[in-house]
Amino acid sequence: MKIRVGQGYDVHQWVAGRPCRLGGILIPSDHGPLGHSDADLVCHVLCDALLGAANMRNIGFHFSDKDPAWKGVASTVLLQKVMEMIRKDGWELGNADVTVILDQPKLNVHIPSMKENLAQVMGIEESQISIKATTSEGMGFVGRGEGISAMAVALIQKD
Ligand code: MG
Repeated sequence: MKIRVGQGYDVHQWVAGRPCRLGGILIPSDHGPLGHSDADLVCHVLCDALLGAANMRNIGFHFSDKDPAWKGVASTVLLQKVMEMIRKDGWELGNADVTVILDQPKLNVHIPSMKENLAQVMGIEESQISIKATTSEGMGFVGRGEGISAMAVALIQKD
């Protein structure tokens, strides 16, 4: 059996009044991440971890932010497409682990619905996806409330 790992990393600027959608779930917040798509970082880092593991470049290569087709797109759609791409190449997800770094809004209460939604989007079991949130202890761009970052690792396998 072949096993590969990949990582994803992403940063988005916070903007007042933008919807805050993470893991496909709308999180109550007075600010949201800025982006060409819906700027759902949880989906973006999962896409990059999966593409990296499968040696298939990155999210911007396949879904350019210069392409009007992807303007305002739900990032769950991009994640679904990435899952199709890796499955077409014979890969299946083993597990993925996501860390979101932000001070506000608090995510803990929303994590079960994010996991449930992503399991459905990706066609996997909830036990295959972990989502964690942490703060930056008030330091740096996250601590100053300027932006949010996220990272993920994914393990994929094929016979
Ligand atoms: Mg992004």
